[in-house]
Amino acid sequence: MTKQVVTFHYTLTDSKGDVIDSSRQGEPLAFLEGSGQIIPGLETALSKMEIGKEQKVQIPSKDAYGDYDKSLVFNVPKSDLPSQGVKLGDMFEVAEGANQRVVVVTAIKENEVTLDANHPMAGKDLSFSVEIVSRRNATPEELAHGHAHGEGGHHHH
Ligand code: ZN
Repeated sequence: MTKQVVTFHYTLTDSKGDVIDSSRQGEPLAFLEGSGQIIPGLETALSKMEIGKEQKVQIPSKDAYGDYDKSLVFNVPKSDLPSQGVKLGDMFEVAEGANQRVVVVTAIKENEVTLDANHPMAGKDLSFSVEIVSRRNATPEELAHGHAHGEGGHHHH
């Protein structure tokens, strides 16, 4: 069977019901099935849903952004940072081999800062309200690229 491109609206809430993120004010999000564009738990839930029915989905952290990993928290000398005026909560990218990782500053000492490379949602159980807007067969180009194109998908410039 040809892989599908699924377009959906979502509202993400935390355990208290406060909205963290939502697509409702803009375009729905599109993803190519099986390409890892969205978290696994959400893809599994969407694969069983019909178009146009809004549904609540609970996703445990292991099927979302994974467990919180203490080994991704590390200290670096302040002099290694791109900017000397860092503040708590500042985010920047660090090179890790060929990859870039986003880290957040979680502690600052006189000569040392603590950086946390965990995803901000790591270790959190997530609550989504989702509604599928459309489903269609992926184009050969999308299959070759490994992501959805068009509305809500990847735009090449
Ligand atoms: Zn592409």
